[in-house]
Amino acid sequence: MLLNQGRTILAIPGPSVIPDRVLAATHRPSPNIYEGELVDIVDGVHQDLKQVALTIGDVAIYPTNGHGAWEAALRNTLVPDDKIVVMANGFFAKRWGTIAEALGVEVLYITQGMSEAADPRRLADLLSKQENRSVKAILAVHAETSSSVCNDIATLRAAIDHSGHDALFMVDCIASMGCDRFEMDEWGVDVAISASQKGLMTPIGLSFVFFNAKARAFGRRANPGPFWNWEKRARADGFYDRFHGTASAHHLFALREALTMIVREEGIEVVWRRHKALAEAIWAALETWSEGGDLRMNVSNPARRATGVTTVNTAPGIGAKIRRWCEREAGVTLGNSLGFPHEEAGDHFRIGHMGHLNLHMVLGVLSCMEAAMVAQGISHGNGAINAAANAIVHHL
Ligand SMILES: *Cc1c(COP(=O)(O)O)cnc(C)c1O
Repeated sequence: MLLNQGRTILAIPGPSVIPDRVLAATHRPSPNIYEGELVDIVDGVHQDLKQVALTIGDVAIYPTNGHGAWEAALRNTLVPDDKIVVMANGFFAKRWGTIAEALGVEVLYITQGMSEAADPRRLADLLSKQENRSVKAILAVHAETSSSVCNDIATLRAAIDHSGHDALFMVDCIASMGCDRFEMDEWGVDVAISASQKGLMTPIGLSFVFFNAKARAFGRRANPGPFWNWEKRARADGFYDRFHGTASAHHLFALREALTMIVREEGIEVVWRRHKALAEAIWAALETWSEGGDLRMNVSNPARRATGVTTVNTAPGIGAKIRRWCEREAGVTLGNSLGFPHEEAGDHFRIGHMGHLNLHMVLGVLSCMEAAMVAQGISHGNGAINAAANAIVHHL
């Protein structure tokens, strides 16, 4: 406990580090909610969100966490007894599926281990066995935050197209938006969801559902109820209706500031490149440490690794030891194990590297992890920080 003064860092895969500018934007008295700045910023917030998702479709804003966006997407498109397919290769995809089940939807799961991307051939195969047009939607997670697999969304879309099913493709981008390249329209995604607290660098409590014309047409058969209905949230002329009541004013001010940073200053393409560069530094360090035999990355194919989170598999107890030491001694909080069997075994952990991050933050986290291994006699390859530095210079 000698060294743990100074600023701490939360290196978990959401909530992420909130920029001081974004926090400062919330530091003001309650505004007039009928006219003035709050009302004036909403069109621009919608526009900029769509530029992050790369869609010309609609966006609805909900005062909820990501679970609310999951539910909103389902309630606006599906009715009980509809049949859907969930590409279940991680904790979050399965959980989205259980929410659909709770709403009375019949869910077919394509389950896979925790280290592989969702397989378009298995999707094509399953769809070919279903009566034509009987599958109403396919659900997938873009960056699966539990395993750190980044699913190949465009190839899943191609499998749906070839199947002849007129199904909606709904994608959870909560951990990928503002981190991994995502092009909603170009990739043929009909519904995309996200939340404020990960790549979007905004306090927990807002979520977003993007939907295209096809999803909107599906919406006419659903009965989401007034709170979840996406139509008014996306399109109402009146400010009050856009939020179905009092708007989350301070969250919106924060989001406005974060979107200014992402869309208007840095630019979404550069945001993606920064995430990739920082992720490659982390992966290079892990590659080197793994030579010691006690830890390795969960996803072996670099092309299928998420750029905002990295899941690490360790020898029993090692993951927990590294996490505990980093938190207690170094002020670095790493992410826990999620979705793997026997979580108590302490043999997985996750590094969150999404959102407001630069090189000194990432190298700081990596150096503290190395100190944790040195201090506790954990076997690791030498030269990881040097490898990280070499990985990053290729991007400059
Ligand atoms: C964080 C996360 C969620 C859940 O979001 P909440 O805000 O906790 O409801 C869902 N899906 C993915 C991929 C996530 O990373």
